[in-house]
Amino acid sequence: ASAVSLALALTACGQNSEGGGKEDKSGSGGATIGVAMPTKSSERWISDGANVVKELKSKGYKTKLVFGEDDPDQQVSQIENMITQGVDALIVAAIDNKSLNNVLQQAKDADIPVISYDRLILGTENVDYYASFDNEKVGELQGSYIVDKLGLKDGEKGPFNIELFAGSNDDNNTKYFFQGAMNALKPHIDKGELVVRSKQTALNQVTTLRWDGGTAQKRMDDLLTSSYRSTTVDAVLSPYDGISIGILSALKSDGYGTKAKPMPVVTGQDAELASVKSIIAGEQTQTVYKDLRKLARIAAGMVDAALNDKKPEINDSTSYDNGVKVVPAYLLQPVSVDKSNYEKALVDDGYYTENDLK
Ligand code: BGC
Repeated sequence: ASAVSLALALTACGQNSEGGGKEDKSGSGGATIGVAMPTKSSERWISDGANVVKELKSKGYKTKLVFGEDDPDQQVSQIENMITQGVDALIVAAIDNKSLNNVLQQAKDADIPVISYDRLILGTENVDYYASFDNEKVGELQGSYIVDKLGLKDGEKGPFNIELFAGSNDDNNTKYFFQGAMNALKPHIDKGELVVRSKQTALNQVTTLRWDGGTAQKRMDDLLTSSYRSTTVDAVLSPYDGISIGILSALKSDGYGTKAKPMPVVTGQDAELASVKSIIAGEQTQTVYKDLRKLARIAAGMVDAALNDKKPEINDSTSYDNGVKVVPAYLLQPVSVDKSNYEKALVDDGYYTENDLK
């Protein structure tokens, strides 16, 4: 069949020809890949959706892309629908890492391979591969940035006041980010060089449900009221740019950001546009850049391999145990970004243009 007649035939059948309509040249066999992203409330996932679709299309696949509004039940039914509609493989960035067991059993029963995207899905054997970043390293970059910036590496003794924030407790990445950060911070907390005045240092005391910036803002308001009436906070560990924005709002409302009361060191993650601009403006201090274009490429390659009985490239087959199996993974490297290197890291890399950052 010519490309045109194939496309016409597909359209006539009422099939979703988004991204398809081309004769298969890559072993995709006209397969359709379902892509489930967690939310549109954060820029990164919108880019992830677009990047993954682009990579899959370039390999000749058709795609169905859905976003779950940060609601686990909605994500489950979206995936169920895609299975019913006959997708050939799934790429899933979970909202709640434990809510997907039943629906992934349905995928297994329909012989649909599943790629866990960025966030590991727990408690099921029905996950074929995991594409992500070195998540502990992300946290290490945040924690060691604070240590460096406060001069603790150069012999400065403080004491400096710090508060800790972590991500959503239903996201498997959260504990890796926090652990990584604490690897760098804990030795200085133990020596009294860093002081957490709220005393909230355990992961379960500092998580932020669904990574919500408003929730983080409220907690930062409360911390400033309860623990910082007679002193100031020097650093805030934030795991994600959207949370950093909430923290910065609380700090600004409390008068931080002046000569007399400078902004504390505030970390972040994802190099989202608003936060890179905030870094350039001297508000947020740091973020962790993860090249999502590469992640999409890896995930699409995993789908392609799974559907063609080939082995995808894996660079970690020991770290990510989901409770039932160790999921073979490809982990990319994150990069710490602040005012001193954002141009080199983000603009030279083509992730943003100078114009984007104006
Ligand atoms: C991702 C981060 C992101 C966070 C909030 C995590 O699972 O790895 O990149 O900042 O979710 O969306």
